[in-house]
Amino acid sequence: MSKNQKIITILGSTGSIGIQALQVLDSIPQHFRIGYLTTNTNIELLAKQIKKFKPIGVVIKDKHAYEKFISQVDFNGKILHGKKGLIEAAGDTINDLVLSALVGFSGVEPTMEAIKSGTTIALANKESLVSAGSVITKSARKHNVEIIAVDSEHSAILQCLVGESIKEVEKIILTASGGPFLNTPLDELEKITAKDALKHPNWTMGNKITIDSATMMNKGFEVIEAFWLFNIPKEKIDVLIHPQSIVHSMVQFVDGSVKAQMGLPDMRIPISYALSYPKRLKYDFPRLDLASLNELTFFKPDYEKFTCLKYAFDALETGGTAPTIINAANEIAVFAFLENKIKFTDIPRCIEAALTEIKIQKKPDLTDIIDTDNDVRHFVHQFINNLNK
Ligand code: MG
Repeated sequence: MSKNQKIITILGSTGSIGIQALQVLDSIPQHFRIGYLTTNTNIELLAKQIKKFKPIGVVIKDKHAYEKFISQVDFNGKILHGKKGLIEAAGDTINDLVLSALVGFSGVEPTMEAIKSGTTIALANKESLVSAGSVITKSARKHNVEIIAVDSEHSAILQCLVGESIKEVEKIILTASGGPFLNTPLDELEKITAKDALKHPNWTMGNKITIDSATMMNKGFEVIEAFWLFNIPKEKIDVLIHPQSIVHSMVQFVDGSVKAQMGLPDMRIPISYALSYPKRLKYDFPRLDLASLNELTFFKPDYEKFTCLKYAFDALETGGTAPTIINAANEIAVFAFLENKIKFTDIPRCIEAALTEIKIQKKPDLTDIIDTDNDVRHFVHQFINNLNK
């Protein structure tokens, strides 16, 4: 192994971001070696990834899938399992960079462990910052660890901020496609099925984030994510709808100048930037052809229709575990919606109910956050059962 090869571990390598990250890495084999690859249940794809990328180790989260893997797949590296395995892989000091592409709250503890071992984090798992932003960023400062955004909007902001001082930022403008229901009237939202909501106009993503984009909870989470990543007052974070998804976000400075980062809606671009930050490597992804675009449009979001976006701003205002509550309630509600157990419009109802019912802790530590997350899950499951009675 050559000295300038980074050891990269991908938490969630069989998900949408994990797969695209491996595509990116496949085109620069001289620059990296794979540490760990992890999956929840998709051992078939994991086996293919092992063959191609020869990782040092793997983690299979699900117990049943782990047992199946042991009996079916021939692999000489380290084989770990469960949440404990994820935490061990994330915290292995062999890693130079951990790409956290886990879904939901499950990313919090592995991310904390990687930070403790001083490893650079490329963060795609925005829910971990939404839920536990205060403890994660505090620990990152303590261990002098950089958290690099993978999310396209935050990657755009990071790129706009190169060479700038955060003190000279007047406003961060997060762009949002508005999702598939941008033009759907408010009174028709109730009838939306999981199948409708899974059709995103611009981006190809995993199921959870696609539903979060349809409710605009995803943009709300990104507001909270920006707050923690860039340490910027919430009053300075704005959201604009931009249906073409070409301008990935903007930064407005104190002199009135605005920088925007543009590109095709292709997650491999922000993933590649996070993996080689602050450098850029050459890739032959399709190029943006501005002349072929008819127009780029921008307008303000409808907070009455997309209540989830409003909840996120309110939670940031309230602080403490308010974002933890929103995140956990949303996670349970989205999976219930995907299983056709609740209506699309029940998703914000679950969040609102949890915010009313669960006590908000003002200055939580990690244990408070984990406890709150558990309480909310329990509460929302019951709330959903009552909805369906
Ligand atoms: Mg995004």
